[in-house]
Amino acid sequence: DESVWQAYAAQEAVTQDGHRIEIGANIGTAADARYAVEQGAEGIGLLRTELIYMAEASLPDEEMQFNVYKEIVRVMGDKSVIIRTLDIGGDKELSYLKIPKEMNPFLGYRAIRLCLDQKPLFVTQLRAILRASAYGKIKIMFPMISGIEEWRSARSIVEEVKGQLRTEGRVFDENIQVGIMVEVPSVAVMARQFAREVDFFSIGTNDLVQYTLAVDRMNEKIDYLYDHFNPAIINLLQTVVNAAHAAGKFVGMCGGMAGDPKAVPLLLALGLDELSMSATAIRKVKHAVSQMELTKCKALLEDVLKMSTAQDIRLKVESFCENNG
Ligand code: PEP
Ligand code: MG
Repeated sequence: DESVWQAYAAQEAVTQDGHRIEIGANIGTAADARYAVEQGAEGIGLLRTELIYMAEASLPDEEMQFNVYKEIVRVMGDKSVIIRTLDIGGDKELSYLKIPKEMNPFLGYRAIRLCLDQKPLFVTQLRAILRASAYGKIKIMFPMISGIEEWRSARSIVEEVKGQLRTEGRVFDENIQVGIMVEVPSVAVMARQFAREVDFFSIGTNDLVQYTLAVDRMNEKIDYLYDHFNPAIINLLQTVVNAAHAAGKFVGMCGGMAGDPKAVPLLLALGLDELSMSATAIRKVKHAVSQMELTKCKALLEDVLKMSTAQDIRLKVESFCENNG
């Protein structure tokens, strides 16, 4: 019944025993932001800025980007907006940005690697984001970080751009938070080191599953191997969340797992602070959270951490969900 579902959109996601988790949306445009608010988004956990670049015939300039980011922030009011810097390459191409054909594009010249190599392009985007930060609660997030040097280089370019803007007398949020996607296994493994330096993490399970299990996320022939309930993934998630919290840092999730109602009990038990998903999944996930008891979810996680196959975990989680909601 539509009115019952609409009620879930307006509610916060709170378990039976009072544990709250923040629910955000993954978006690409200002129109998406308006729809996400209607569906009950409490923030934007992932703005995929490459969608803005992909909609243009040539590189969008600073002013154009500034206007888009500013409009999204205006739509979101006092809610926070995590803007991910350009994540191009892999399966996402720009006609006007010639990247030589590669044998393994998902392991190649993409995302933050490309931005660090093409600094003017990166600086233009950071200027637009920082200027928009004067109008709302923006956070900056880097995609595809694989090592601490990359993070430090990208972070220092943000500082450099802040310096430029200061000199020009432009307003921006001096305390803007800067974080990273956790989507490359090397970062998940080294999460404790990263947690000391970043302001926040957001776990990108789409790529984290692909890289950890060595399973192409686009290849249907092997999609039976692509499973976020694989025990290697659950263990990595635990490593990342615990590392973040030990350092007092916020950790969200913006990959497809965050929008899977069946994953909700494990994600609650792991202790994620936020789940960000496509707007259409929000009501289902809020409903799932409202059916759960955190203490039972924690007992489930204990059991799951002893299991060694994705199949066993999936069956266990499915029967748990049937009995709880
Ligand atoms: C991810 O990898 O999980 C993610 C959210 O980013 P994208 O799907 O854009 O690669
Ligand atoms: Mg990704």
